[in-house]
Parts: sequence; C-alpha cells; structure tokens
Amino acid sequence: MKDRLPEHIEPLRLARSQRLLHGRLPLSRMPRLASSLEVNEEDAGEIDVDLKFDVDVTGIAWMEGHLTGTLTLCCQRCMQQLFMPIDATFKLAMVESESEIEQLGEQYEPLLLEDDSLVSVVELVEDELLLTLPIVPKHDTEECNAGEEIVEQVVVEVKPESKKNPFAALADLKSK
Ligand SMILES: [Zn+2]
Repeated sequence: MKDRLPEHIEPLRLARSQRLLHGRLPLSRMPRLASSLEVNEEDAGEIDVDLKFDVDVTGIAWMEGHLTGTLTLCCQRCMQQLFMPIDATFKLAMVESESEIEQLGEQYEPLLLEDDSLVSVVELVEDELLLTLPIVPKHDTEECNAGEEIVEQVVVEVKPESKKNPFAALADLKSK
C-alpha cells in the first residue's frame, strides 16, 4: 500500500524500507514554476506524484518518480494558453558527497543530500517539472491561434491559375 506524500522526506530511510509514496501537489505551491505558467494561481491545477524508493544491488539508494498532470503555459507565437501534458519519469540516486556523483551509473541523476538528509517533496517535484519545460513553448501549427493568419497569407500568395486550355473552356460551356 502507498503512503501519502509528506512535506519532507528522508530518502535514505525510505529507500532502505522500500517505500512507495503517492499524492497530489498544487502547482500554486511552486513559485519558481509560476513565472512560466499562463494561468491564475487558483486555476493552476495539481500534479499527480508517485515516488518509489529502493536500494540497488551495488548498495546505491535510489528514488524513482513519476509525474502526471497538465501545465498551462504561454504559447510564444500567439501568446495564448498552451496546455502541456506532463508524463515525466526520473530516477535519482541519493549521494552525500560530490565524489559519489562521479561514480554513479548513467541510469541515475544525483540527488545531493544536505546534512540533515531531509528533502522537500514540493521542491523536488518543482525541480523536475522545471526540467520538462520547453525553452520556447509553442502550439503545434494546426492548433496555434497565430496559425490561421499564416495559412491565409500562404493562400493569398498563391499565383492565379494559369490560363485554361481554350478547349477545356469550350467543354465547360457545352456542359452548361
Ligand atoms: Zn499558439
């Protein structure tokens, strides 16, 4: 059974006891993310968080996270809301010194623990969400509100049809 998300976690302890945590976090609690969101705080929504803790055969304590939800960003082409679905997975190894980071395999990103070994869950999730943000958020062309203008311009620029074959014109007349 999964436990609820606490405010702070002790990842090393959770890894040793192979725990699972699950919960939802309001995006309004993530101030560093707020500047990228194109929505009022109260409408920002929530992120669904799954965290799994374990220790691998080499003794490395790790945490695997899965985040799902939707971020409301600002499309940089039409400057309107852009809904970006989030389905992100990350795997972090708990390390207590810089030298441990160098020894990590490629499957892990390091999570450097402070002296008290406590980690804020909301800050951790916010860090991972910031990593998923596109550098320049943009709708797909078909969905973008600036897209229609672009399409119209293309239509206007299309050259007028070349002269019809006179015989075809005659055929047109006959068929009327
Ligand atoms: Zn757009």
